[in-house]
Amino acid sequence: MKQIELFIQNKTGLHARPAKVLVNLAKQFKSDISVQHGGKRANAKSMVSVLTLGAVNGSGIILQANGADEEKAIAELEAAIRSGLGDNDSSIETEPALATSDAPVKFPQAIETVEPGVIKGVGAAPGIAVGPIFHFQQVEYDLDHVDLSGNGHVNFAEALTRAKAELGELHQQMNDKKLGAEAAIFEAHAELLDDPELAEAVQVRVATGLSQAKAWKVTIDEQAESIAALNDPLFAARADDLRDVGKRVLRLMLGHGEKEDSMPTTPVVIVARELSPSDTASFDPERVLGFGIVEGGPTSHIAILARALGIPAIVGVDESMLTLEEKTPVILNGNDGTLTVNPAADILERAKLSQRRWLEYRRFAQEQAASPAISLDDIRVDVTANAGSIADSAEALRMGADGIGLLRTEFLFLERTTAPTEDEQFSVYNAIAETMKTLPVIVRTLDIGGDKPVPYIQMKPELNPFLGERGIRLCLNRPELFREQLRAILRAAPSGNLRIMFPMISDIAEIRQARALIEELRAELNSPPIQIGIMVEVPSAALMADVLAPEIDFFSIGTNDLTQYTLAMDRGNSALASKHDGLHPAVLRLIAQTIDAAHKFGKRADICGELGSDAAAVPILLGLGMDELSVSIPSIPTVKAQVRSLKISDLQSLAREALNCSTAQEVRELVKKHFD
Ligand code: PEP
Ligand code: MG
Repeated sequence: MKQIELFIQNKTGLHARPAKVLVNLAKQFKSDISVQHGGKRANAKSMVSVLTLGAVNGSGIILQANGADEEKAIAELEAAIRSGLGDNDSSIETEPALATSDAPVKFPQAIETVEPGVIKGVGAAPGIAVGPIFHFQQVEYDLDHVDLSGNGHVNFAEALTRAKAELGELHQQMNDKKLGAEAAIFEAHAELLDDPELAEAVQVRVATGLSQAKAWKVTIDEQAESIAALNDPLFAARADDLRDVGKRVLRLMLGHGEKEDSMPTTPVVIVARELSPSDTASFDPERVLGFGIVEGGPTSHIAILARALGIPAIVGVDESMLTLEEKTPVILNGNDGTLTVNPAADILERAKLSQRRWLEYRRFAQEQAASPAISLDDIRVDVTANAGSIADSAEALRMGADGIGLLRTEFLFLERTTAPTEDEQFSVYNAIAETMKTLPVIVRTLDIGGDKPVPYIQMKPELNPFLGERGIRLCLNRPELFREQLRAILRAAPSGNLRIMFPMISDIAEIRQARALIEELRAELNSPPIQIGIMVEVPSAALMADVLAPEIDFFSIGTNDLTQYTLAMDRGNSALASKHDGLHPAVLRLIAQTIDAAHKFGKRADICGELGSDAAAVPILLGLGMDELSVSIPSIPTVKAQVRSLKISDLQSLAREALNCSTAQEVRELVKKHFD
């Protein structure tokens, strides 16, 4: 037997992501492995067990392995724990990378909000729903009053098999919709079903005479409670996952179907404190016109699911929504985040009209997706995709993308215990280049650190990871890692039309250093010249754009980070969600300055932040001279349709007026007034 004592160094303790990295690594060894902390002992191959330890930052743990490969197991686990198990920052659990890539399309023709009777939230999925409210209650199974031998009931093993099949189907559906992060939720649920500790606890209880259903329920409740009792929002989310999957198995044991619930048969607007991913994924858009929840932000998984299902949604809604009477008529506006209660007849009529127009507009946009986006005054604007996988590139083409304006390469590096090799990376970049043929693909080099740490890269704990060793800074400090990625891109470039883009540039020296490395590698590989651009997402890059422009081929403005750094507002903080607005004149001035500098030197300026798919922002961005809009894949058709409806030469004065507004709200009102 081998054992070692260690300290948990990551700031948020052994919460979900580091626990998953630890458990997945432990599973690779044959030895029995345990983790001990605070008098508790956990099976290191059981996620549930590791989570219930509640090991926080600075906790001493004892790692023990017993078996043929115990030495190797301890050595590798020790190295992984010492490097922080891929976690430096508590924000990573609240904001998955993908969640920010898919914000709602906000249309300027939103219905007017009337002060009395309007409850405020944040728009999470676009569209307007008009109908009576329905308070969604989580189904609770009362096992003391059901006949467990009843018709349709299945045993525990069968229920587990069926639950896995359902989760596999949901996983597939989400993948088909290119929702990797949501697919991962259901994958994680399926993993919980394989947890050895849960199965063992059920067996022990059944041996004492409990029914299987009760044994399962008690086990889930107990484990979820002990995780929730750790009183940490990150652990609490895992407790919710456990309850969600627990309920699925129980429902199957009791012989209930997936959609069976207390939902009315006529269409409703759902309101609830919160919803689970399983609840949301099971909503039938014919019966659920829209939903509003008190918890959550616009980048949460629930919001992304709503957008994928085409269900208008608002999140972070004021608590008073929960006190409304059942069947109260409401207008839920997913564009501006409002819930209008008991609307007057004329407002109701206008809302219904807006609802119809929205649906028609979306259908029309989808029909036209393959045509180029040419404005009324004959200016072609390329609308490209923000992509993060090989599958995304095929989907981008299907949705009419004119190329890939941002390929986030982090997907190759996250959720694994070793870095991808040069060849592994080459095959992915090559596949994407071949898929897109002659269309341009802007490959952004690794943007990790900050909210996206990885376990195999040693990093010192940082007080402010978003202001720390992130993006290009991290790559320049690790030339081997950077070289491998650049070599893989350069090797794949001849298969299509690849370009290279560096993230988080804040200084000219970074461009020069990165460029020199590319030149050196090009000589080594004997590869042709390649276009090189930078992301403008740090205010210093925007302010110095005229100095940087001669050194690059294009700028791509990352408004998600540019807004965060300009307004000093964490992009993942749901309490600030309504204020984190890229239409703030301070951000617009930096965008304008960047575009002007690019054009002065004959270079292109694109946008790849979420603002590019915000319908209120598109006219301003085009008026400022933006050359290309790179947007989330589902937004491509509607953004193209909007470009076709605009006369860009008319938008220049509107855009300049926006620069002189004093708030983002004023800019939004200006746009609304212009188009009204
Ligand atoms: C941005 O910051 O706007 C951007 C597109 O990059 P990411 O969202 O990947 O940080
Ligand atoms: Mg960014």
